[in-house]
Amino acid sequence: MGFFEPAARLNLIPPYLFKEIDLKKELIRAKGVDIIDLGVGDPDLPTPKFIVDTMQKAVEDPKTHRYPLYSGLSRFREAVARWYKRRFDVDLDPESEVLTLIGCKEGIAHLPLGVNNPEDINLVTTPAYPVYRMGSLFAGAVCFMMPLVAENDFLPNLNDIPPIEARDAKMFFFNYPNNPTGATADLDFFRRVADFCREYNIIAVHDACYSEMAFDGYRPSSFLEVPGAKEIGIEFHSLSKTYSMTGWRLGMAVGNREVLAALGKIKSNIDSGAFDAIQLAGIAALDSDQASVREYCAIYQERRDTIVSGLQKLGYQVTPPKATFYVWLPVPQGFTSMSFAAHVLEQAGIVVVPGFGFGEPGEGYVRLALTVPKERLEEALARLAKI
Ligand SMILES: *Cc1c(COP(=O)(O)O)cnc(C)c1O
Repeated sequence: MGFFEPAARLNLIPPYLFKEIDLKKELIRAKGVDIIDLGVGDPDLPTPKFIVDTMQKAVEDPKTHRYPLYSGLSRFREAVARWYKRRFDVDLDPESEVLTLIGCKEGIAHLPLGVNNPEDINLVTTPAYPVYRMGSLFAGAVCFMMPLVAENDFLPNLNDIPPIEARDAKMFFFNYPNNPTGATADLDFFRRVADFCREYNIIAVHDACYSEMAFDGYRPSSFLEVPGAKEIGIEFHSLSKTYSMTGWRLGMAVGNREVLAALGKIKSNIDSGAFDAIQLAGIAALDSDQASVREYCAIYQERRDTIVSGLQKLGYQVTPPKATFYVWLPVPQGFTSMSFAAHVLEQAGIVVVPGFGFGEPGEGYVRLALTVPKERLEEALARLAKI
């Protein structure tokens, strides 16, 4: 018995699967091996200078030093609306249809507290970013997991949801371009999701945080481009990946005003909003000509081409992702996702994430994040060739 018993809620958190791999990583690092880390989805490219400069000026102004509005600066929300109009031709009312977030993880985690009652059902795709499920569980909701498999292009099959679950479901979480599979969805899929959610009275919750990280001229759609989408859904967005701002913590939720009001009510009782100076830097990012985004996408695309063609030459079956900085790699015959991750770590000093960690259908895959320079990817390929 310790000094206190943590809340039963914490027992909902699944066991940490990577303890063994973490230990191995430490042992191998201690031996002096130069580890190539393709594990974390955190951009290595710096925040573009014009954004840093804007922040520097903003932080000098004492007006930014006070409590922000929990819902965000009006000027930031107006910039988000302008950006959605320019990028997706979607109209948003900045006052009621945009909410500033302290990173979109914060919004995703808090949303179920404003929407779910205990025993509610949320539909969640899997493998997935874990926060959709954990946020739901913390709010007492039950998750109905929808597998994403290669045979269905990593899209959930809406016909597989039993009508009983569909009738009782409150929210449907989905994410395209997708982490971890790198899969993309077109507007036609979004239309089918909207129809499904309308039929069963479900809130569609789309995570679009990789919409700007796309290659070969491909431009991902917003769920809100579907006519009437705002009546039934919201979309999460983040400046983290688009502008290499993961540490800054700035994101937004847009769409249905009643859902955003429920999330806002939770937020106003928990946090006090994003630092105004960061929001001012965010305005500069959203209002910019997006040249930095194109420049960074070209770098990620070159990395993708390097790793995918290199892996294919080594005999790996891998499809180049059209978006995201992830490669979803089927593991060779005879390996599980865990044993393959251990194998490349021990034999080649390369860190990858076992797909199983993102959910059961991720078994048989590992995720590679393209967050190291091209030369390091070439070095990784050279090491893989030797094992
Ligand atoms: C990185 C990531 C996020 C988190 O974004 P923040 O704005 O940094 O909190 C959300 N969803 C997915 C799918 C991600 O990969």
